[in-house]
Amino acid sequence: MANVSFIYAHPDDETFLSAGFIRQLADAGHPPSMLLSTRGDAGNKNGDYIHWSREQLGELREREMSRAAEILGLAEVEYLGLPDGKTAEADESTFLEGVIRFINHHRPRTLVTFPLDGGNRHPDHMAISRMTTKAVLSGRCPSVEQLYYIMSAALAEEGRKPTFQLDVERQWSMKADALRAHDSQKLAIGRYFGPLDTFPENRRYESFILAWELGEIWPEKDAEQALRELDLLQEN
Ligand SMILES: [Zn+2]
Repeated sequence: MANVSFIYAHPDDETFLSAGFIRQLADAGHPPSMLLSTRGDAGNKNGDYIHWSREQLGELREREMSRAAEILGLAEVEYLGLPDGKTAEADESTFLEGVIRFINHHRPRTLVTFPLDGGNRHPDHMAISRMTTKAVLSGRCPSVEQLYYIMSAALAEEGRKPTFQLDVERQWSMKADALRAHDSQKLAIGRYFGPLDTFPENRRYESFILAWELGEIWPEKDAEQALRELDLLQEN
């Protein structure tokens, strides 16, 4: 049975990169859990909250995340509460222990996180990828059999291919609603996806690459097999 946890940095990462995947898991009867390293407390991208403290912004983004989690079908969202934008400077052993504690509490078989390049070189994305990878490789998370990364341009340039891709066109209204839940991020969302009432052809696929499985790095696996293991084959 699929037991999947997602580990990201900020409220909204999950929806940008994996709304369709999360919803399909939930619909298959396996609502995933998620850990975020921050509450997104520096996320004042719209300029709407210029007089807000980090504490207030963090609360706002947690509320937005709760709404998105309902839409996506996430079973649970936990936070490490590290300072947004500065997690790369956090005490490494505390950070790592927090990730390991989350994993051993939920005991996922499959983990999904950013690639080591963060997808976009964001230092928080790179830090949580590194910590999650370290946690898996530490041997201290015995439930974990597979680690997936979000496919990135940097990985493609290295000649790597996604293990599987999900076409999210049929799920677009759900994904758009989850994006709208992250209202404080609407400028960044608009830049990436365009107007949410139109399906963005250039964002058709959510793409994932198997980075590690039972001790093997970059195992080869065909998409059908990967989806069967995740109990998602009937969806595609
Ligand atoms: Zn992010």
